[in-house]
Amino acid sequence: MSDADAALHDALESVVARNPGQKLFRQAVHEVLESLAPVVAQHPEYVEGGILKRIVEPERVVSFRVPWVDDSGVIQVQRGFRVQFSSDLGPYKGGLRFHRSVDEDTLKFLGFEQVFKNALTGLGLGGGKGGSDFDPHGRTDGEVMRFCQSFMAELAHHIGADLDVPAGDIGVGGREIGYLYGQYRKITGRNEAGVITGKGIGYGGSWARTEATGYGLVYYVREMLRETDFSLDGSRVVVSGSGNVALYAARKATQLGATVVACSDSSGYVVDERGLDLDLLADVKDVRRERLSVYAEERGDCEFVEGRSVWEVKCDIALPCATQNELDGDAARTLAGNGCRLVAEGANMPCTEEAVEVIREKGILFGPAKAANAGGVATSGLEMRQNAGRLQWDFERVDSELDRIMTNIYATTAATAEEYGMPGDLAAGANIAGFRRVADAMLAQGVI
Ligand code: GLU
Repeated sequence: MSDADAALHDALESVVARNPGQKLFRQAVHEVLESLAPVVAQHPEYVEGGILKRIVEPERVVSFRVPWVDDSGVIQVQRGFRVQFSSDLGPYKGGLRFHRSVDEDTLKFLGFEQVFKNALTGLGLGGGKGGSDFDPHGRTDGEVMRFCQSFMAELAHHIGADLDVPAGDIGVGGREIGYLYGQYRKITGRNEAGVITGKGIGYGGSWARTEATGYGLVYYVREMLRETDFSLDGSRVVVSGSGNVALYAARKATQLGATVVACSDSSGYVVDERGLDLDLLADVKDVRRERLSVYAEERGDCEFVEGRSVWEVKCDIALPCATQNELDGDAARTLAGNGCRLVAEGANMPCTEEAVEVIREKGILFGPAKAANAGGVATSGLEMRQNAGRLQWDFERVDSELDRIMTNIYATTAATAEEYGMPGDLAAGANIAGFRRVADAMLAQGVI
């Protein structure tokens, strides 16, 4: 075994040994390390500098108790976390997820992914992730507020505009960010807008942050399609999920001439052959927080399919925008059988390793999450810049910066894949390009 292969093998073994039962984290690390062989072989300094074993160990994991009182006066206890994975390129940066599935494994996987994604944006952002097993579904605004206040009562000790900057993720949108930021101000007594991103426009937020992940995903897809014989215009698109990422990906794809025929939530999916009515969808899911079946009832002349996978719907372009491991090997085979030509990840690690293999084998174009969904965090980076300069750019300016960043990320991932002998393998290109930026910063800063 070469030194490079041995170092990769040892790093993976140490992750397996140190993180028993943490399947998602191991999956994420495996996927990255597997693609690094050519770069580690060419750069012995990464092995000598111990980069591989250092990069897979988070700098810090904070775990804390979050007690709160529900509307019936009962005391509830949740667990909160902040994983500060890497600060080599800048302050830790990454969202907060509130979902019953959240545990240390989930947040380490997400924090690890975030390190490479943030590196690709070129904005000087480290990587982190946090959250709680609190489930906001079915909770009143008052309950959500009290939970957010208790969560921030602890988190406030660990974050700061130059230290660690959280944002939203699944279960954490504008409402939650507002409550979290309000509590941070109350605790510290300071207006430090750059401590959290995804804020409302009226109190330090950035235009286009809400749209950014979905729009950015479609800008990335547009770049992927430039040298092919098809484009978004006239194509049939399926998205999964119906949150912010799915909704704004559908909006941008529709603006660019695609027909988005289906989306999903945890109850099932809806197929609407005319193209989804996105205003109605936003109203049902975002404003009224209802299930997708309500969309189908109110829209009429479309089908709600309960409890089945949206990937059985025929499409040219599939955009998984819901959650991790939502698209497995069988779903990928179904998509391929139905003539799908491109899959790009709006969620974090939505495709299983088997799905990615099938996608590659069948010659379907693949846009990996670290690159394709980096628009959200990139726009958070732009929000931090505006906060630091006490400025507010207009929507067009932020959107055009986002477009430029996504175009650039595509160019970097494609060129890196080519440089390391894997032309067209954007997943390898994203892993290698992100890794090199972080690894070079680590080497320059010594063993710390
Ligand atoms: N949660 C988003 C992501 O997965 C955004 C993070 C941020 O804006 O910090 O990249």
